[in-house]
Order: sequence, then structure tokens, then C-alpha cells
Amino acid sequence: MQITEIFRSIQGESTRAGLPCIFVRLTGCNLRCTWCDTAYAFHGGAPMSVDQVFARVVELSGAGSPGGAAQPPAAPAIPLVELTGGEPLLQQDLIPLAEKLRGAGFSVMLETSGERPLESLPREIIKIVDVKCPDSGEPDTFRIANLAALDAKDEIKFVISSRRDYEFARDFTRQHGLADRVGHVIFSPVHADPEGGWEAMAPREMAEWILADGLPVRLGLQVHKFIWHPATRGV
Ligand code: SF4
Repeated sequence: MQITEIFRSIQGESTRAGLPCIFVRLTGCNLRCTWCDTAYAFHGGAPMSVDQVFARVVELSGAGSPGGAAQPPAAPAIPLVELTGGEPLLQQDLIPLAEKLRGAGFSVMLETSGERPLESLPREIIKIVDVKCPDSGEPDTFRIANLAALDAKDEIKFVISSRRDYEFARDFTRQHGLADRVGHVIFSPVHADPEGGWEAMAPREMAEWILADGLPVRLGLQVHKFIWHPATRGV
């Protein structure tokens, strides 16, 4: 596998925001969203085997193991792992890694754009699917057939940077009955680029739109960008 970074931090997004979590960031992405905040993961990284990634996650989880770090811990002190990127589904060892982590007692989240097929993934993986809105520059990349692979433990997220994006997300949510398909639908306003590449979407403005339309969705803020400077890596 090609890995950009593995680190321990506070989960910043999804309904698990605020929980300690170990992140495995896989290298490479087939999309180029205009507001991407992890473009450093497009290239580079280091090759690691499934066992090496697993051992590092176990080490960061804080759980000791009588057999050493390569053995599954009895009870991870931090039992939550997110596989993210880039686009994790571009790497063929992703499923073996997810299954090994699941077997060791970790809850495994997968962040994906939903452009790659999801039906072959183990159902137990918590899928956080980031459906791209028009102003991302990558509209129409979500694979509609993937909706059938999602259920109540999964979440669909829209990163929203404009009224046009909001209306797309609102109409998509209604048209596909997302509130009944997945556990949570999250509308996440874009955070400003610290280097001035793009502007923020005001959370208050979007909150008022959600309330005015009576949408059954959750407003999602990127918690880690309020804790640390938004340009900080490895958090
Ligand atoms: S899919 Fe994710 S990693 Fe890829 S360009 Fe878009 S935001 Fe960045």
C-alpha cells in the first residue's frame, strides 16, 4: 500500500466528531476537487505492507499486547480507525487491511467520494461517502448504484461552498430519500483555505437555509480546524 501518513487525532467530521481516532491516509486520488484540503496526499507517500500499517495503528491505539505490537490488542484504548486519503478505494489492499483491523476489535470508518464501487466492501465498514457538489469541480462523479450498498450505519456528506451547492445537496437528499437510507446526512460548509485559495461558506447562512427548508440533515463543522490551525497536517 502507498501511505501518506498515519496519526492519532480527534475525529473532526461525521457523527463521531470529537472522538479520539487513528487516521490512515492512503496516497493518491482520481479526483481534483477545487477545495481539496489534502492535496499533499495526491503523490508521494511510502510503501507499507498491510501488516506494517496494522502494527502502526495498534501502536498508536495505545493498547499493549503481550505478543508485541504486531499482535491484535485485546482492547484498543482508541478503538476507532479512519481509512482516508486521497481515495482509499484505489488501493487493492484496502479490504484486507480493513478486515484485519475489524478482526482486532477496531471500528473502521472509510471516507470515499463514492466514485468507486462500494458493494464488495464488508458491510461492517462504516462508509462516509462524500458526494461531490457542482462547485467542487467534480460533479456527477458519484456512482448512483452505490446507494444500494449503504445502510443505517453509513453517512453521506456534502461539502458545500455556495447556494448552488446547497440546492444540489438538498435536491439530491430529497430525490434519493437519503434520510431513510443512511444513518445521517451531513451538510458541511467549506472551511476557508488558509492560503487564500478559496473562501469559506458561512455556517450560519447554511444553517438558516437548512431550517428554512426543514431538511432532515445535520450541519457538520470540521472540528479539527477549530482546535488546530487549518493548515496543520497530521491532526
Ligand atoms: S476526493 Fe477528497 S482527496 Fe480527492 S480531490 Fe476530492 S477532496 Fe481531495
